[in-house]
Amino acid sequence: MRASVKEAIAALPTPLKEAVTEICESPDFDATISKEQFANLLEISQLSDADLRVALLPVAAAYSVAPISKFYVGAIARGESGRLYFGANMEFEGVQLSQSIHAEQSAISHAWLKGETSLTNITINYSPCGHCRQFMNELNGAEKLEIQLPSRDAKSLHSYLPEPFGPSDLGIDEPLMCPVHHGLTAEEENDLLNAAVAATNRSHAPYSRNLSGVAIRDTKGRLFAGMYAENAAFNPSLPPLQVALVNMNMAEVPLDEIQEVVLVEKADATISHLQDTQALLEALNPDIPLGYLAL
Ligand SMILES: [Zn+2]
Repeated sequence: MRASVKEAIAALPTPLKEAVTEICESPDFDATISKEQFANLLEISQLSDADLRVALLPVAAAYSVAPISKFYVGAIARGESGRLYFGANMEFEGVQLSQSIHAEQSAISHAWLKGETSLTNITINYSPCGHCRQFMNELNGAEKLEIQLPSRDAKSLHSYLPEPFGPSDLGIDEPLMCPVHHGLTAEEENDLLNAAVAATNRSHAPYSRNLSGVAIRDTKGRLFAGMYAENAAFNPSLPPLQVALVNMNMAEVPLDEIQEVVLVEKADATISHLQDTQALLEALNPDIPLGYLAL
């Protein structure tokens, strides 16, 4: 377990500390808490549902990688299945700030990566920034999404984002996280490329049509995929490399263990992720080879 996560758990009140330690030290722990585990924590802690989620926020924030701001934001997204997904902000030295990942984007893409198709609520240790309010408005079920902050009543996303502009204003009826399969295949096949194509088939790009996905192989041979999450307001879009890095970070794999990366995108789209992907990988480690396939 990462030292920062251990410290966050050690600072939890008793008896929550013991129960969370048991969950997080399990070999199959993947920075999520199942519905049953959460029910057990409610029983043990005697906290309300919202207070327990808030109490767990420091554990989510312990996944933060914030070398620029040193400002550690944690978010916990609850999927419709009842499972809770941790997320934290990620920043990258040497590239534009627009490559940063906000904690809400991390928790949401974590839930999406693991198969959730909508969220019921998201708990955050700081008020969501405008960028994240717009990012969350892209979600399937955005109109019902609840935001929980420490020491506040839960409020709807749309009370934080009145008069919203979103996918429905552009005639899009399959918002982010809707289960999709775009049916793309690659002629050449290997496990890394297959993972990137599979991510591309799950990507959300209704505005540019640049369906895209990334797959990372780490030094131990494990694969981490990420799919592109486009946004109606364009700028809050989360590129596929960022989602793959969330996948890796929430699996507690350090980013210096990236061995190789493949980017897949559409050949005939109006935009490309190639240059930004190259720039961020170059900043992480100039020796990472990047494979590229335009379908
Ligand atoms: Zn934000």
